Parts: sequence; C-alpha cells; structure tokens
Amino acid sequence: MKKYVDVILPLPLAGGFTYSLPDDVADKVVNGCRVVVPFGRKKFYTAIVYHVHYLCPKEYEVKDITSLLDEQPILLPTQFKFWQWIADYYLCTLGDVYKAALPSGLKIESETIVVSNPDYEADQPLPPSQQALLTALSSYGQQSVTHLEKVTGLNGILNVVKQLLDKEAIFIKEELKRTYKPKVEARVRFASEMNDRQLNILFDLLKRSAKQEAVLMKYIELSGYHRGEMMEVSRQHLLQSAGASASALNALVERKVFEIYHAEIGRLEDGMMKTGELHPLNNHQQEAFSQIRESFQHKAVCLLQGVTASGKTEVYIHLIEEALKQGKQVLYLLPEIALTTQITVRLKRVFGNRMGIYHSKFPDAERVEIWRKQLSDAPYDIILGVRSSVFLPFQNLGLIIVDEEHENTYKQQDPAPRYNARNAAIVLAGMLGAKVLLGTATPSIETWYNATTGKYGLVKLTERYKEILLPEIIPVDCKELNRKKRMNGQFSPLLLQEIRQSLERKEQVILFQNRRGFAPMIECKTCGWVPRCKNCDVSLTYHKGIGQLTCHYCGYTYLVPRSCPACQGVEIVNRGFGTEKIEDDVKMLFPEATVARMDLDTTRTRTAYERIINDFEAGKTNILIGTQMVSKGLDFDHVSTVGILNADTMLNYPDFRAYERAFQLMAQVAGRAGRKNKQGRVVLQTRSIDHPIIGQVMQNDYESMVCAQLSERKMFNYPPFARLIYVFLKHRNEELLDEMAQVMGERLRASFGPRVLGPDKPPVARVQTLFIRKIVLKIELTSSMAEARKLLLQIQRDMIEEPKYKSLVVYYDVDPM
Ligand code: ADP
Ligand code: ZN
Ligand code: ZN
Repeated sequence: MKKYVDVILPLPLAGGFTYSLPDDVADKVVNGCRVVVPFGRKKFYTAIVYHVHYLCPKEYEVKDITSLLDEQPILLPTQFKFWQWIADYYLCTLGDVYKAALPSGLKIESETIVVSNPDYEADQPLPPSQQALLTALSSYGQQSVTHLEKVTGLNGILNVVKQLLDKEAIFIKEELKRTYKPKVEARVRFASEMNDRQLNILFDLLKRSAKQEAVLMKYIELSGYHRGEMMEVSRQHLLQSAGASASALNALVERKVFEIYHAEIGRLEDGMMKTGELHPLNNHQQEAFSQIRESFQHKAVCLLQGVTASGKTEVYIHLIEEALKQGKQVLYLLPEIALTTQITVRLKRVFGNRMGIYHSKFPDAERVEIWRKQLSDAPYDIILGVRSSVFLPFQNLGLIIVDEEHENTYKQQDPAPRYNARNAAIVLAGMLGAKVLLGTATPSIETWYNATTGKYGLVKLTERYKEILLPEIIPVDCKELNRKKRMNGQFSPLLLQEIRQSLERKEQVILFQNRRGFAPMIECKTCGWVPRCKNCDVSLTYHKGIGQLTCHYCGYTYLVPRSCPACQGVEIVNRGFGTEKIEDDVKMLFPEATVARMDLDTTRTRTAYERIINDFEAGKTNILIGTQMVSKGLDFDHVSTVGILNADTMLNYPDFRAYERAFQLMAQVAGRAGRKNKQGRVVLQTRSIDHPIIGQVMQNDYESMVCAQLSERKMFNYPPFARLIYVFLKHRNEELLDEMAQVMGERLRASFGPRVLGPDKPPVARVQTLFIRKIVLKIELTSSMAEARKLLLQIQRDMIEEPKYKSLVVYYDVDPM
C-alpha cells in the first residue's frame, strides 16, 4: 500500500502538506525526519515529517517526496508538541516555528545561498555530482541552490548540497561572525612500526641535526612511547613544545620517520576543561538555595528576586550542580546581549566541557553540530543560550534557569513566531517535567504578580555579597538647572564633578543613555512640556511625515501645537539625542580619559561587544557610554560613578510598561556602581524630579513601584489583569487598508465587544512598501484564550475570502512587549 507523509514546510502557510513516499524509502521514513519536497514551480524545500499514514488526500494531486535526508529523526516527539503550542498560542503557523527553531544548515531550500569552504581538501575523489557542484560553485562564487541546479543540471541537488555540507566542503552563506575553527587537526605518528633498536639507530643518524633530534625526543615524550603507551600527538603541539620549526618536522617526514595524518576533533569539545570547585555559598545564599529547593517540591516555577550582586549566579551554579548529580540536563537562558565571556567563564570554570553555548551570532555549522550532539547519546548536560535555545532537543531536561527574566529581549518581535522565550520555557518545562527558576533583581510585573499570588514560588536575596552597599542615588533637577543655564550640554555640574573625581582616583565611570530616547516625541524646549493623550494619559508619538501626534493606545490623533500650552514658548523640538553626541561631548570635556561607546552601532558582532567589555574590565577604558546594554548583568569592579543622563525619555515613552521599564533599567544600571569596601554613586538627571518613579529608584523601592503599577494596570485592565493581542493589518494600498481595518475592527467588535481598541496607526506605520494598522484586543484572564483564538482566525478567514480583501496580510502579536 502507498504510504504518505504530512510535513511541515518552512513557509508561513496554514494547513498541512501531504506527499507520497516512493517505495525505496517508504520504510525508512519516520516522524521527525527531514525530506526534500517539491513545492510550487521549480522550488524545493526541506520539510519535516510529522505524520506517516496510508490516507491519500482527495482534494489535490499528491507528489512524491524528492528524497529523504535523515536516517534518524532530528526532532524528538515532545518538540512537535512544543512547536504546536507555540503556533497555537502565538497565532502563527508551524512553518513559522520551524523557521525559527532550526539552524539554517538543517533547512536548506532552493533559495539558500551556499559558499565553498576555501580550506576544504577532499581526502578521496568525490562522487561526480558533488564534484560538479563544487566546480560550478568555484566558477560562480556564492550561489543559490536554484542557480547551481540550473548550471549543473543535477537531479536531487538538495541531497548533494547536504552531503557537501556534512563534509564541510561548503557552508550556508551567512555572515561568519567568528573565525571558523577547523574541524580536523594535523597529527604526527611514526611512519612505520618502531622498536628500541631502530630508535637508537635513528638517534645516531640525527646526531648532527639537533632540531630534528629535539622533535623526535619530544615526540617520544608526548606520545608516551617510553611508557609503552601510544597517545596521539598534534603537529602544532609537537612543534610548540619542541620549540622547533616546521622544516625540522618536514625533514623527518621526508626521511620517512614520521607521517602526518588528519583527525577529526569535534569543534565543540575545545577549550576549557573543568578547573574549579564550586564557591561555597554564604548564609543568605544557602538559605535562598534551600528555599528554592523547597519551593520546587510544590511548584514548577520559582522566582529568585535578588538585588544586584547578591550572588544569584552562584546560587544558579549550585542548583545546576544538583540537577547534574541527578543525571538531569539544564538549560540556562540569557537575554541575547548579556551573553558575554563573563558568565561563560564563570560556568566553564565549574562545568568545563559539559556545557555548550548556543548563540545566534555563532556560525551556523556550529549550531547544527550542537543540535546533533543534543540528539546523540553524549549530549551536553548544560546549554547556555539565548532565546532560540528553547528549541534545542533535550532528552532529559530537569531545570531551566531564566536569568534576568524581566528582559524584553526574551520576546521575539519580528518575524513570527513572536514568542516570549521565558514563557515558552515555562511551558516547555511543564511538558518535560522540569523546574524553572526565574532570576532577576527587578522582576517583570507579570512574574511578580504570579509569585505573590501563589502561582510561582518566591525567594529573596536582599544582601549584596560581602555586604557591599547599594549605591547612593542622587537625583538632579535638570529643569531647574536648565532654567538657570547651568547645564553643560547634557551634563549637570554634579555629574561633571563626580566624573572628574572618579577619574582622579583612577576609578571608572558608566554613562547611560536610554535607547528609547530616539522614540519620536516632541517637547517644549523652554519648560519640558510633553504632549499627552487626553484619554489615556500617555505621551504622544510624533509622526514627522504627516506632522501629527498620535496616541499609541486609543489611536486618537492631534495636531502639533504651534506654541507650548504650558508656557507659550514657541520652540517645540523633536526630542532624542544619541550616545554618539554624548561621546563627542565627553571627549571634549575630559580629553585625558579613554572613552568607549557601547550601543547597537558599535556592537554589530559578538567580538566587538566582547572587546568593549574586556577593555573596560581590564581598566583600559575609563568611561563607558552606552544604552541598555550597559545595564545587562555585567559585573565590574572599579566603577564608582554611574550617570543616568536623562530619565525622562524612559518615563515618557508611550507604553503602559514605560514606568516599569524605567524602574528596571535605572535600578539595573545603578547596580553597576559600587566596589568592594566602597559605596558607589549614581547621578540621576531628570526634568521630572517629582515623578514617583524617581523616588522609587532612589529608595530602591521595587515594591512601591509594583504596587502603584498594579493598581493602575487593574484600573485600565492591562496585563497581568488581562491579556493583550495586537492584530496587525498590512497592505500596499493605504486607502483600502483603512477600509479593511475599519471592517475588521467592526467584525471584531461584533464578537469581542468593548475589548477591541482601534484600529490605529502604529508608530512605524509603513514598512517597506506596506502600510500597517493595528487593532488592540484585551482579553480577560478568565475567558478562554483558545476560544478567542478560534474566533480571531475565523474572522481573519472570512475577511480574506472576500475577493476585494484577499491580498490583506494579517498577523498577530500575543502578549506584546
Ligand atoms: P548577581 O548575579 O546577583 O548580580 P553575582 O553572582 O554576579 O551576583 O555575584 C556578584 C559578585 O560576587 C561576583 O563577582 C561573584 O563572583 C561574587 N560572589 C557572589 N557569591 C559568591 C560566593 N558564594 N563565593 C564567592 N564569590 C561570590
Ligand atoms: Zn489615547
Ligand atoms: Zn513650555
């Protein structure tokens, strides 16, 4: 009987796709294997099999799969379940999840660009098809698979690509962000069997060539020949330890004493072996550790709220150790940008090569290798990784640590799946029976709410390690100083004085400028007035192109006033100054200091980011200027002053999370100040000196902040008291889009009533050539999300079925951040 497979394609298409299996592979295909399938005109994709059956679809003509890529599944059964959850919850397709989940090397398709590996040397003649592809690639340079197929005329080209990828003769094109480590190593061995007598003769022969003699001696030592062992010796290690040049070794090879051979050295096994014992925990940490264990007895998730530098990481390390002792695996999640050498070194010191690192800025081949290793019978026990590592296969997961759980980089903004890795991790852990520890000094309000209403456990660490004091936070009223013309650009006299003193004492300075300062807003240059929505009490977003102000929440639009309603001033300015300007100013004011800037521009690559951090750690830089990145869990020893240049851009950001984030950011940045035996100082510049958040930051009073925010959220029905879904509509034609948005809004209101807000124009109302409209949905926690999703998708289908609206693009952001 003919067999069929349902597959997932890496395409944002709803519905399943069925192919038939040619007889020769019919018995080899199992769930989780990859197959190459034709799709559309002349296109090929790598698809994943999720169901094998005998049911021939009636509606369309079924095609055969082109070939089978895997003998063994590359996905574990629970991963399908997890993918399905992501697709359901975040309102996207399995194809979207597939695209986000797998490294590129595992999902080649006809549009994939491949490049040849210049270092590749075949050890034996390649099959003609592979050779033909390499030849074509060398004459055309990097090429898409489709193009190579055309010029080589090869059948089943994806298979050939896969074989060459496995050999590393070619790579998937991507920016290689890190120098690529070779996977094979040159090693040395005796060219033929050797005994003591022969060796003696050899030494006699080499008497007059001291260098060669030295190499031979060293080889005997390194290989353990004299002890009767024969260990492998790498060429490089031999030359280095013998202090000899390559020519000495080459001479011995020519004399047929040695031969060189190549051996695979799994790229991942490199580097640091375990070197250290765990640090003993102090009493507070020990107490927290026991409480977490106790909490895990009853609850799946526990929040560890520990002030900055309380030693949360040490507590994590002890929990990891315990999980490993029970034979379990651990996933340690970090927000994208915080994945620095600092944390890697701390964990490697204890866990050595039981830990693997999964990072989007690593070469794809390395990610593929980790993926395969996790499927093997010797997987890493610990994965340290960013958001996407929740998609790795885990065979025996016992614990997930989500460090800095409040970070919004856990949320994928674009493209779909717009998932939150923290929340997804909690779901994943539930499926695998693992525990989750959420750690942070400044929990997200949602997490805090869950922890204080009993859903999660809650454990606190209130003392800094070795009782280093929290920094003193001194607010500066820039509005007043501005009026008195005492500001020097963006610097108050106090901040300048603190910087100067720190530099004199050879201590370091961090200056923080919020990235969201670039949010389009206007303000009165004279009095600092910022226009706000009369309905929603949030600052308005400025749309320069159309000269309008809009409310992010209710969609109401306003004209830009000609003069300030507060002071009648006529200078209404577009706000936002960047880190670059600050850098220039600092260099002028402190020409003797070395200054570095850390923002999106200066940290395009992982190495650039690490260099800035390492230089600062090593004291090569005196002043570090940066955006949110400088706040991310970094631990520096010599920072005595932190300057927060402008708290207002954070406070005025038009989002219901603005105050929460402002608090988190300022508290985190402030936490970088302070050294052993000395209290650090934070100069907090603001034009809203009376703003409650400023007071809460000064007192480090997280709980007051949370209480105030929770009561506001409750009043306006925002998370954690309701769930938000943003419905985005996209179309090329703005007029038609507005019409469709109105219609969709009405239909949504017919089903969801007053839970629907909008449509309105999002701050970025046009991307590429598509216009965008946004509709907000607030769903009570008590109502069924599954129902809501069903309704939403139904309304979307009904819309698109109307011929007039068929090219409307609809997508969703569930739990937006
Ligand atoms: P957090 O993660 O809470 O910000 P860290 O774990 O980074 O805090 O700890 C801050 C500093 O104190 C680090 O340099 C860390 O090495 C040190 N530290 C914390 N706890 C211990 C401990 N039990 N033994 C030795 N050093 C510790
Ligand atoms: Zn409004
Ligand atoms: Zn004014």
